[in-house]
Amino acid sequence: MNADDVFFADVLLPLHVQGTFTYRIPREFAGQVKVGARVVVQFGRSRLYSAVVRRVHQEQPSFQLKYVLAILDTSPIVNPRSMDFWEWMADYYMCTVGDVMAAALPAALKLASESAVSIHPDFEGELSSLSKTEMQIVQLLTEHRVMKVNDVSRALNLQKIMPVMKGLIERQVVIMDEELRQRYTPRTVAYVSLAQEYATEEAQAALFAALEKRKSTAQVALMMSFLQLSHFGSEAVAKADLRPSTSLDALVKRGVFHIEERVESRITTAGNGAEAKVADIVLNDEQQAAFDTLRKGPAVSLLHGVTSSGKTEVYIKLIDEVVSAGKQALFLVPEIALTSQLINRLRTYFGDKVGVYHSRFSNSQRAEVWHRTHSDGADRYQVLLGARSAIFLPFVDLALVIIDEEHDASYKQTDPLPRYNGRDAAIYLASMWKARTVLGSATPSIECRYHALTGKYGLAEMKHRYGGFALPEVECVDMKEKLRTKQVKGIFSDTLISAIETALDNGQQAIIFQNRRGFAPRLECDECHHVPQCVNCDVSLVYHKGTNTLRCHRCGYSIPVPSECPQCHSTHLRTMGIGTERIEEDLHLLFPNANVARMDLDSTSQKNRYDELLTDFQHKRIDILVGTQMVTKGLDFEHVSVVGIIGADSMINFPDFRAYERAFQQMTQVSGRAGRHGTAGRVIIQTFNPFHMVLDDVRHNNYDHLYGEQINERRVFHYPPFSRLIEITLKHRSSAVLDNAALQLATTLKATFGTRVIGPEYPLVTRVRGLCLKMITMRFERTEPIAEAKKIIMRATDALTAQKDYASVAVHFDVDPY
Ligand code: ADP
Ligand code: ZN
Ligand code: ZN
Repeated sequence: MNADDVFFADVLLPLHVQGTFTYRIPREFAGQVKVGARVVVQFGRSRLYSAVVRRVHQEQPSFQLKYVLAILDTSPIVNPRSMDFWEWMADYYMCTVGDVMAAALPAALKLASESAVSIHPDFEGELSSLSKTEMQIVQLLTEHRVMKVNDVSRALNLQKIMPVMKGLIERQVVIMDEELRQRYTPRTVAYVSLAQEYATEEAQAALFAALEKRKSTAQVALMMSFLQLSHFGSEAVAKADLRPSTSLDALVKRGVFHIEERVESRITTAGNGAEAKVADIVLNDEQQAAFDTLRKGPAVSLLHGVTSSGKTEVYIKLIDEVVSAGKQALFLVPEIALTSQLINRLRTYFGDKVGVYHSRFSNSQRAEVWHRTHSDGADRYQVLLGARSAIFLPFVDLALVIIDEEHDASYKQTDPLPRYNGRDAAIYLASMWKARTVLGSATPSIECRYHALTGKYGLAEMKHRYGGFALPEVECVDMKEKLRTKQVKGIFSDTLISAIETALDNGQQAIIFQNRRGFAPRLECDECHHVPQCVNCDVSLVYHKGTNTLRCHRCGYSIPVPSECPQCHSTHLRTMGIGTERIEEDLHLLFPNANVARMDLDSTSQKNRYDELLTDFQHKRIDILVGTQMVTKGLDFEHVSVVGIIGADSMINFPDFRAYERAFQQMTQVSGRAGRHGTAGRVIIQTFNPFHMVLDDVRHNNYDHLYGEQINERRVFHYPPFSRLIEITLKHRSSAVLDNAALQLATTLKATFGTRVIGPEYPLVTRVRGLCLKMITMRFERTEPIAEAKKIIMRATDALTAQKDYASVAVHFDVDPY
């Protein structure tokens, strides 16, 4: 055979493997294997995977090669620049390029022989469009419901099943099972409408007369509010909007009202066409000045604007320029801030040019956003809105990257690999495209503010709320004093109670923030002070009253609440500390007539419950919303006049070098939810330490003071931004093996890096999921060649785990672990 016709493909696999793997391209595929397209290859035992072609070449390797088995795409699904980005990320965050690829590609594009498939629930059985093979697959899947691709191929004795399966998935005949599990039942909302007999004015007058005669004032009032809300009975009204429900029940019984359940969509978005023109947004002077600075400044700029200063309008203006020029903009927000409110706001201006990349969307929807990001046609998305994983989209002409709430901890991904910071990676991505980057925040991270002050980043500031509204009044309530003078009910001070009362009386709403879910952080025996612990982790179990369980927030371990102390058999068990569930219960008791709801990981585990809570709150079906940090982010509600902060002290005292910064950010952000539209806002912080510096800074909205203190501390103690940290975590079942391994690794590293090696030491939690943990922290000066250091660290680690005794020690790297 002529060597000139022999071609090879280096491919990337979405597995925890480093680098590319080479396969031979069979002659029948000559010229059809494209860089960035997917092919099917065998890897490991007998498994088939979708791999992405990195390079096609003619350099014959010296060893025997397997063949590329099939071609899945005739044109690329990723571009070379994306793959460069994956490789950069693998290097920088010390993981494999396969780890990055697995995170980058939407599940629907990762078809493998191990993937489970079934018939798409929306498939109507249109068999006429199917080929004979496809028909066989459909029949088989109808019989077996769920099967692995591999088993389908074996059952039908089909060698080349992957391209066929891919076609069926794209046409929504078949669905990957992973997605099936995510499907949800539609949510329904109860609506109340007027019965036909009461449609006329006479009938209504007669009804009023009858009710008044029987002195049913509550029913009269309800009837009045119904007529008002329903435009005199012409529309239905959400049941939750009508209170009290006892009167409603009575009127339903009487035949005045009908109740029906209507399906309500979750992520409601406005129509597709743009309804408003960006040119019609008139920026105020401060916004205009910021806009001008951001357009002209260095490649990366910080937009430091107080809450509700109108940062979003500035972003919209910036995006508009990019869209008009036919280019693309990426708009990143923390997952939790990706609400229908924000989506609608962008769609109002950019219509169907907006693509939303969202973990709450289905696999096929995500695959569609992926394809439309790099489409050649007129359907190409130009504004990509998403949480951190949107940085992986296959952009073709990226000109602007906006990272809103830049300081937010949720930009950092810890599990699964890659452990990356979405903000920092986005800045790098933008630099690859020579795109402009805008970092926005009301409470910038210390490092970004530092870069902005030292000239590495540009800086634009907006110090006033849009519309001239005042920032809310923040006050601290001294709980020691309140307890002494007995002005406390449950965990609430009289000050907070009366503030909530006033808000409710004025038809306004309140938010209560406590960064701890569950009912109580622990259960304690009154006699022997035993606290039940997780069997897998070295943490106390959290008491959840709703489910009557004790649960581990690290590993999910859960047991029923014991009736007696497992140690001394005393039945006097007490809850210690306060979680969101407890606060919710207290509020129900204190405000029996108010609608109280809770928003935390437990109450929003059900798909879309989060959006529902927000919608309910927006429509005032909820009066008081209790929540963890979920309530602190980006929400723009009109009627919130009171914000209560319960756990300020535990945030401030958290043992971490960023504790003050984070406490300040969270308190300022949640305060920023109050009084956004003119109603005077009031923020009440309950604390045992009312004179703490951080609280003072929150009270006076004194970011500059906080920054000054923090940056000095970072400088003195060599913390970022003055240094770079790499955290090495070692895990093993046996603490003895672990201790030796950690000591050996630290000793090796110290030989090269000296005092840059800190540890080994125990982390805050020393055992998780049955594995003991030990940590070594590496600290480098900003100026040191970090890439070289990373290689040395990797080699030292490989040498460690190459030893028989330590082969089963797991080693994790976390670069910039904060
Ligand atoms: P931030 O993101 O800074 O917290 P937003 O962008 O949500 O603030 O703005 C707060 C409110 O002010 C929003 O309701 C927004 O629509 C309004 N707003 C801000 N700037 C303008 C403007 N230039 N014209 C009209 N409304 C504006
Ligand atoms: Zn006991
Ligand atoms: Zn646990």
